Amino acid sequence: MAVTASPAAKDARAIEFLSSTRKMLINGEWVESASGKTFATYNPADGSELAQVAEGEAEDINRAVAAARKAFDEGPWANTPPNVRSKLLWKLSELVEANADTFAELESLDNGKACTMAKAVDVAGTVEHFQYMAGWATKIDGRTFKMSTPGHIGYTLREAVGVCGQIIPWNFPLMMAAWKLGPALAMGNTVVLKPAEQTPLTALLLGELIAEAGFPEGVVNIVPGFGETAGAALSGHPDVDKIAFTGSTEVGKLIMQAASGNLKKVSLELGGKAPNIVFDDADLEAATAGAAMGIFFNQGQVCCAGSRLYVQKKSFDNVIGALTDAASNLKIAPGMDPSCEMGPLISDEQFDKVTGMVAGGLEAGAKATTGGGPVDGPGYFFKPTVLVDTDPSMQVVREEIFGPVVVAAPFDDIDDLAREANDTPYGLSAGIWTSNITKANQMAAKLKAGTVWINCYNVFDPHLPFGGYKESGIGREMGPEVMDLYTEVKAVCIGGL
Ligand code: NAP
Ligand code: MG
Repeated sequence: MAVTASPAAKDARAIEFLSSTRKMLINGEWVESASGKTFATYNPADGSELAQVAEGEAEDINRAVAAARKAFDEGPWANTPPNVRSKLLWKLSELVEANADTFAELESLDNGKACTMAKAVDVAGTVEHFQYMAGWATKIDGRTFKMSTPGHIGYTLREAVGVCGQIIPWNFPLMMAAWKLGPALAMGNTVVLKPAEQTPLTALLLGELIAEAGFPEGVVNIVPGFGETAGAALSGHPDVDKIAFTGSTEVGKLIMQAASGNLKKVSLELGGKAPNIVFDDADLEAATAGAAMGIFFNQGQVCCAGSRLYVQKKSFDNVIGALTDAASNLKIAPGMDPSCEMGPLISDEQFDKVTGMVAGGLEAGAKATTGGGPVDGPGYFFKPTVLVDTDPSMQVVREEIFGPVVVAAPFDDIDDLAREANDTPYGLSAGIWTSNITKANQMAAKLKAGTVWINCYNVFDPHLPFGGYKESGIGREMGPEVMDLYTEVKAVCIGGL
């Protein structure tokens, strides 16, 4: 099995965008890095260079934070009324929609995902997210109450936190930018955003549209660069009031440490090792399709991927047989190929990590019913893989692989299953497949996970909060809950009444 060379961009704006070095957005201007340094971003389907991008470091972060600080403290943003913030976000959503093809192609080229998926999921999800958050800008309120102390009343105000540093990963580059920017801007904060080094392009295109939509200068600053330099400078910056991060649990811990200097607010969306549970009484066809999509979507590079599949004993062979067929039939191709159902992994580093972990699992005694290794040819393609004969102590069962690899095990007893499903430091998400609603709710109550999908998987909605228990994170993005991440509550107490 070998894949063909990656088709190039077809969209005129995407071609134009890739034709020159991309600069960073600071204080409403597109500028080079202070050092003049640039770095390359690559197409993971063939390893070719797509573009050079300005490389932000501490000095650039300082400039961006100063611009965001000024826009928050003195600039027009502080006095921009909620309905204007709402209209700006809605306008941005319309501009993203109008440039859907450009975004989809750039995302596909930079990340490797299927262009069709990028358009249907990432771009459409971004539009929807900005529109939902546009609605929230005008709906932030507090409480009023009579106090027990005679002659006193209290009220609360929700105010913007201030300058928000936002650091995002490479798996959903545009959508993660939207999840971060949408609520921050709706609540009246200013932002310094650092995209992942592997996928800076769509965040930078979004920066162009943010300017076009009419956001005042300095409200959104976008500084591409590396985690150890730009990311570390942002998370440790004394003038940043809040840091929001999505990525690995390991780096999440570093962010918390860096944030402790000025005790900036921290919200984290981290890794996962989600159990996806199929009971005998489930619609097994739907459950198998859900199990396949749950792990193979986005090449398995999804923090909430259903990477541990538990199937009730009687149905195990059937479900694994059908899942194996589904995996072997996925069309592996560059994301820009319209027939692509699975693209490459993001990078050589991720390719080595997934390849190494699966090899380790096989050595430890696991068996691959399909896949189990890389695809021949250029690019970082890895075969969709189903591992059975695992045991709970194996690294492939315990650690996040972040690739198209599911470990599957049969179960008998529901109490044992709950214990096993929760036997992980992670707690981001879980799936349950059954036609018995009582059983579904009983199981949902037992699972320590921020999201539980019942008879569905990977379903997102801007109204549905998302975030992790345990080491999968702190805070909830989306839904009304995200307001807690981007506002401070001021309690005002009035006496003498
Ligand atoms: P990562 O290192 O956690 O990267 C996420 C973001 O954090 C990137 O923007 C990265 O910048 C930045 N960063 C890295 N080190 C930093 C530091 N010391 N201070 C501040 N920011 C820093 O993730 P990765 O290396 O790309 O992937 C490694 C593993 O993380 C994956 O295999 C997967 O298990 C997990 N992961 C999880 C998610 C998720 O959605 N939960 C997403 C991606 C990866 P650079 O890109 O410039 O290094
Ligand atoms: Mg790239």
